[in-house]
Amino acid sequence: MNSKDYINLDETYGAHNYHPLPVVISWALGAKVKDPEGKEYFDFLSAYSAVNQGHRHPKIIKALVDQANICTLTSRAFHNDRMGAFLKKLCEYTGFENALPMNTGVEAVETAIKAARRWGVEVKGVQNGKQEIVCVEENFHGRTLVAISMSNDPDSRVNYGPYAPGFIRVPYENIAAMEKVITPNTVAIILEPIQGEAGVCVPYAGYLNAVRELCTKNNVLMILDEVQTGFCRTGKKFAWMHEGARPDIMCLGKALGGGVMPVSAIVADHAIMKVFTPGTHGSTFGGNPLSSAVAIAAIEVLEDEKLDERSEALGKIFRDEVAKIACENMVKVRGKGLLNAILFKEGFEAWKVCLALRDAGLLAKQTHGNIIRFAPPLVISEQELKEAIAIIAKVLKNY
Ligand SMILES: *Cc1c(COP(=O)(O)O)cnc(C)c1O
Repeated sequence: MNSKDYINLDETYGAHNYHPLPVVISWALGAKVKDPEGKEYFDFLSAYSAVNQGHRHPKIIKALVDQANICTLTSRAFHNDRMGAFLKKLCEYTGFENALPMNTGVEAVETAIKAARRWGVEVKGVQNGKQEIVCVEENFHGRTLVAISMSNDPDSRVNYGPYAPGFIRVPYENIAAMEKVITPNTVAIILEPIQGEAGVCVPYAGYLNAVRELCTKNNVLMILDEVQTGFCRTGKKFAWMHEGARPDIMCLGKALGGGVMPVSAIVADHAIMKVFTPGTHGSTFGGNPLSSAVAIAAIEVLEDEKLDERSEALGKIFRDEVAKIACENMVKVRGKGLLNAILFKEGFEAWKVCLALRDAGLLAKQTHGNIIRFAPPLVISEQELKEAIAIIAKVLKNY
């Protein structure tokens, strides 16, 4: 079978809920992938930042295989001998007192929302059913009904009503608007510290601290969705660390699974996490021994290889070099660490650039029509990054 055959199978038997770049990946290692015909590409999407540690990192694969040969799934009806070590590692890495493991990013978001709503009743004293949560425009928190109820993206929402109540949306980067909608029933504000899906929108310096202050002043929980920005992607362990605006609850996923399995979690201090009592929340696969072993290795790789520092340094090189490219339709390059995007003129079809980049040996995906995100695995070497930038320059010069 060749690439065309594989694509045909997907289109024949799958639901058409994605519009992938026409390329098939059948092999991957580090920052590189290959198609069935043997053509090699740089991976500049990293599965939306789920492979920060690079494809098939040997330490993570070893943890996966070793644990798979011992014990994989117990459910939370019993204890297992791996979850505790995972939770300890995650708490130490993030600096929070407690962690609650789930599987996908959107489940971490749901867990954070549930925690905040319960905290609102049991700690803040809001009447159950009256809890309000403030979210921001252009957010992406995943695909469940609660997550899309927060979204204002028509594609995410259309014809999926009725939507979950209790969410109030305000413009991004607008503290005054946020302050205006806070009532005694407000239990939380949820946002991404850098909006990934919206096109790598980096807020003005001081924004996160202003949200933090607003939350503290009004006894409202600050929830940061770091599913995409976390685990060294933006040049720090977590994006809030650029400003020191520590949230009350942090949602984690993607790279926590080291690129091999879905692992997510929320972290918070005990004063919040205590609202969960036996039977009030759970997940069959959450905290399973296989995920736990993989996640420990995934965090250790970030630490051992100082991927925060690498991301910071290589990100600077990327933005400096890309800004020099003579491309008529490029407006600017923006981002932090190795989470970057090139913004093209309004109406420009970035899709055709993605196809040309693919032909030249680099995979990236447009978002919102005129923006391309560039987010390679953080293990990419400086030499590889420079080769990739040369490919981008060669292609962009034609547009
Ligand atoms: C990807 C993402 C999610 C959802 O994660 P899934 O694992 O796809 O459910 C949530 N929030 C942000 C910011 C994301 O980038």
